[in-house]
Amino acid sequence: PCTDFDVAYFHSYAHVGIHEEMIKDRARTETYKEAIMQHQSFIQGKVVVDVGCGTGILSIFCAQAGAKRVYAVDASDIAVQANEVVKANGLSDKVIVLHGRVEDVEIDEEVDVIISEWMGYMLLYESMLGSVITARDRWLKPGGLILPSHATLYMAPVSHPDRYSHSIDFWRNVYGIDMSAMMQLAKQCAFEEPSVESISGENVLTWPEVVKHIDCQTVKIQELDSVIASYKFKSMMRAPMHGFGFWFDVEFSEPASSPAKTTSATSVASGSSSMTMSPSREGNQKKRSNPSDALVLSTSPEAPPTHWQQTIVYLYDPVDVEQDQVIEGSVTLSQSKENRRFMNIHLEYSSAGRSFVKESVMR
Ligand code: SAH
Repeated sequence: PCTDFDVAYFHSYAHVGIHEEMIKDRARTETYKEAIMQHQSFIQGKVVVDVGCGTGILSIFCAQAGAKRVYAVDASDIAVQANEVVKANGLSDKVIVLHGRVEDVEIDEEVDVIISEWMGYMLLYESMLGSVITARDRWLKPGGLILPSHATLYMAPVSHPDRYSHSIDFWRNVYGIDMSAMMQLAKQCAFEEPSVESISGENVLTWPEVVKHIDCQTVKIQELDSVIASYKFKSMMRAPMHGFGFWFDVEFSEPASSPAKTTSATSVASGSSSMTMSPSREGNQKKRSNPSDALVLSTSPEAPPTHWQQTIVYLYDPVDVEQDQVIEGSVTLSQSKENRRFMNIHLEYSSAGRSFVKESVMR
């Protein structure tokens, strides 16, 4: 069912600013374009669905790559502009804009390719992946291509003394007045909710761990209701730990069963700025095998910046960790009951004789 929350959600995508921000994010948009070109031989002459087409940009890339037909679906009023853009580029015979939810629109044929840019902050915020799964289960042929094909959410402990002193220690001395009585409130206000901001590799205390790996071919909607992961890090340095950073990457590879690639995949992969050998990528290679020529869009602190930045779940008070100290606990990400677009983050920490729980909601 389409709730009031969905109406508000789709309304937010009717504004130009959000599309401008996404399209100007070059790491994002260029990696999608490269991925489409890398899979051109698969896409040529085929039928594509673009789940959440926005301004229509990915649909047009697919049409330019030789798709026979592209269904560009968006429930937001931005679909009106998408239709105009398609017309102005002379692609109305190939790109069919459907203004509605993928859950509701009708497409009278099976499709070969699903493309979507569904990732939210911390990967799962916004819960749009469920709509990609719905599209897959409604229309995708067996052996069809889903771009991106895989997604991985990572976490790592972070130290961010500057941020802490800027918001909290600031109150110790304000124009010569001791305002440290404000500090408790400042912590509550600054760190209650997860914070979307850019950190650098230097803020990260150790290699990341995988919170959730998603294979878009097989993932089920129920798996996303609640994601639970235990973590166990060993700090690579002595530092105050201020919280945990989260970021993700997505990979664009063909299903294992599909015919061997014939395009210039290797040259694309080796020359691409969005292909990063960041900790996250090395980290995930330890966890699983990775087709070496698959394009990756990474939002790691080591990768070129994106509009997703990183998401930090701050602790109210820093924990001083020693080098080699074990940092362990668990994290649960679940859809909020209040609004399924919101995400509850339940973080448990239990190390070196200290334990606590941090609850937060991403709204
Ligand atoms: N593909 C575009 C826009 C991505 S933003 C680009 O890459 O620039 C995601 C878009 O998905 C938004 O425009 C939003 O309105 C749309 N969307 C999200 N869930 C949807 C659903 N269930 N049905 C149709 N559109 C959806």
